[in-house]
Amino acid sequence: MTRTILIVEDNAQNRLLLRDILIFHGYQVLEAENGDEGVRLAKTAKPDLMLLDIQMPVMDGITAATLLKNDPATVQVKLIALTSFAMKSDRERIMAAGFDDYITKPIDTRKLPLLIRRHLLTGKNHLNDANRCDRS
Ligand code: MN
Repeated sequence: MTRTILIVEDNAQNRLLLRDILIFHGYQVLEAENGDEGVRLAKTAKPDLMLLDIQMPVMDGITAATLLKNDPATVQVKLIALTSFAMKSDRERIMAAGFDDYITKPIDTRKLPLLIRRHLLTGKNHLNDANRCDRS
């Protein structure tokens, strides 16, 4: 079954890069340019996973994640943050908002598909152990 991933990112160049990686790996891809658009699209499109940029106009990724995790219609969607921040306090803020994980920019194009695959398998079985993508 083809999995759907919703990219929520205000930078068009980053969206293009992410879309190319995801399509190459066989995912169906949807896109939104800010958190508000992303939350509204998630409710109707029901993606399996969302890549959410943290810094965006109109609505940032933290606010969007909080709304998504407080709505029964979208609570099950896996959320991965895209962030330029790597400070411990930023990580805590991201995880506290309900994100399942995060990846720092610039995006590691080899690591991202492994991270996504791992989260899409989480909760179903443990066959993903061989594909773990642990951060150091
Ligand atoms: Mn941004």
